Amino acid sequence: MSIVKVKVGEVILGDGVIKVQSMTKTPTSDVSGVLAEIEELKKEGCEIVRVGIPSEKEVYNFKKIVEKSTLPVVADIHFNYEIAIKAMEYGAQKIRINPGNLGGEEKFKKVLEVAKYYDVPVRIGVNAGSISLDILERNNYNFAEAMVESALKWVRFAEREKFYNIVVSVKHSDVHETVKAYRLLSGVIPYPLHVGITEAGPPPEGIYKSVIGIGSLLIDGIGDTIRVSLTGSSVEEVRVAYQILESLGLRLRHIQIISCPMCARKRVDVEKLVNEFRDKIRRSNLENIPLKVAIMGCEVNGPGEARQADIGIAPGLKYSLLFKKGKIIKKVPNDKAIDFLIEEIKKWKN
Ligand code: SF4
Repeated sequence: MSIVKVKVGEVILGDGVIKVQSMTKTPTSDVSGVLAEIEELKKEGCEIVRVGIPSEKEVYNFKKIVEKSTLPVVADIHFNYEIAIKAMEYGAQKIRINPGNLGGEEKFKKVLEVAKYYDVPVRIGVNAGSISLDILERNNYNFAEAMVESALKWVRFAEREKFYNIVVSVKHSDVHETVKAYRLLSGVIPYPLHVGITEAGPPPEGIYKSVIGIGSLLIDGIGDTIRVSLTGSSVEEVRVAYQILESLGLRLRHIQIISCPMCARKRVDVEKLVNEFRDKIRRSNLENIPLKVAIMGCEVNGPGEARQADIGIAPGLKYSLLFKKGKIIKKVPNDKAIDFLIEEIKKWKN
């Protein structure tokens, strides 16, 4: 958790709750398409959305998007500092730039002046592909160290300009380099960190890389907002982001299933039971309850595991034990166990 809190619209970065963000993939020229994508992202739980402004003529489309967006919008700009300034004038709630490719310190300074005027936070987003040659050489081509040096250079520059409304990222497509860079940076600066693996690739490989990279950092307590970058849909990025957070117990929004890997001792077909359970909670609209539900295969480990969950079943030869918060509440026939479980979850909801 950072020391400085940064406000992106009404969303706070650095308050201890990791925020989920994504980036639209619809061309910015297709304003209604981008807005529809933003609505889809919002439905999935996305809290901040980033929109790329690839050229000057897209700034007007960006303006229309910001005006109608129901999520805070971050303008993503490369190379052209004038676009960054325009985006802020047009209502961007945050901008993401890489000061290294903006065309020099003077231009970055102008961006900071406008950001200060409009009270817009700036993400200093350094990534491996844009580190200057001198920094790379000084760091013997160690990308993590070079990214950190580059980020610190611009952070210190902003601070000299008395600008502190900063978020920082140091992303690489390599998991090791990314994790190392954030670990080096964390604790050195007080600003919120935007964490992710850049260009992680298509699913499922990109998902594994993101889970390992982002997950490792979150376990260390590093990161205030996360973005999963996939060669795939932005909605999937948000789903994966929440799966990472839920797996770490950081933001529980859905039912989490604890189920055993089914060894030779199993009394029931656990896979079938889990599928039946999933189907039934989906049909009854019970998925979005932050509960840990255990579905085990036998009485050897089953009761123990089920006891640690909020609710769960552990089957015997004919009957299953239904546990709630560590207490046996019912003994039910195996073939009715899922239905009893669902009934208990419904009571929980009400
Ligand atoms: Fe095997 Fe029972 Fe453990 Fe499942 S709960 S893996 S069936 S011992």
